[in-house]
Amino acid sequence: MNIAVLLKQTPDTESVIRIAGNGRSIVTDDLKWIINPYDEFAVEAALRLKEKLGGVVSILSVGPQRTVEAIRTALAMGADNGVLIDDPAMEGSDSLAMARVLATAARELNPDLILCGSRAVDFDQAQIGAQVAEFLGRPHWSLAVSIECDGSRVIIERPVEGGKSVAVADLPALITLGGSHAVWNPRYASLPGIMKAKKKPLTFKKLSDLGIDPSQCGPHAAKIRMTALEMPPVRKPGRILDGNLDAAGKARELVRLLHEEAKVI
Ligand SMILES: Cc1cc2nc3c(=O)[nH]c(=O)nc-3n(C[C@H](O)[C@H](O)[C@H](O)COP(=O)(O)OP(=O)(O)OC[C@H]3O[C@@H](n4cnc5c(N)ncnc54)[C@H](O)[C@@H]3O)c2cc1C
Repeated sequence: MNIAVLLKQTPDTESVIRIAGNGRSIVTDDLKWIINPYDEFAVEAALRLKEKLGGVVSILSVGPQRTVEAIRTALAMGADNGVLIDDPAMEGSDSLAMARVLATAARELNPDLILCGSRAVDFDQAQIGAQVAEFLGRPHWSLAVSIECDGSRVIIERPVEGGKSVAVADLPALITLGGSHAVWNPRYASLPGIMKAKKKPLTFKKLSDLGIDPSQCGPHAAKIRMTALEMPPVRKPGRILDGNLDAAGKARELVRLLHEEAKVI
């Protein structure tokens, strides 16, 4: 079983985000970077399938050199090899260009199954999975919370209101992962895993290696334009009721505030 995981490095979800001077990007200098949490679920799912069925798990990423750290972490978890596409022509690319590049690189690996996160927690467009599947002409199911595979078909569960539905796709297919940390409980990289990861193959590619014309990427090719980023409005501080009031007094004061100030009752 040959599995490719599309992995994006994203800012740590605890990061304090600051908008850059151009008003259309964020300051990245002092950010801590992590594997996009949904992609960590994809790595975990791929490793579980490999444990059952054997095969190879490849990590595929588009990003700058710092992305090596995220790929090495996935290799330390147990993935077998990595490919990083780092090309300045990708700067300013929208998701369609990103998906074209990922699909072209994935085609070279010829995986039976492509796993990726349902969304990246930074740009949060939730588009890449479907777009890559479309470029490759593969079946695509989204938001899997469990994955089984019998070697010719992949069987997933996906949430529906109040329950789960079961979906089946013939291989080769692309599945995006939903759920939460509690659902997937991704493994930590062990110390021996970290040592082994240093020697696992990591290939660096440019767009020219993939036969992609750089004019298909970057701001000029983008079908979406990022016009401005804004911070959400600062929230008003919370109110604390006078602690000297008795319970009935606090209830009366709360009702008054909800009625007169918040105007919700
Ligand atoms: C006009 C415009 C300009 C942009 N300029 C830049 C820029 O200069 N620099 C920049 O970094 N981003 C830029 N972006 C954002 C970039 O296009 C998105 O990060 C990218 O399209 C993926 O979208 P997303 O992050 O919302 O991923 P989603 O669609 O939410 O991701 C879903 C899944 O796809 C996979 N995936 C997503 N991205 C990657 C990746 N890079 N490598 C491997 N797998 C991946 C992961 O498995 C992820 O969980 C720009 C976007 C727009 C619209």
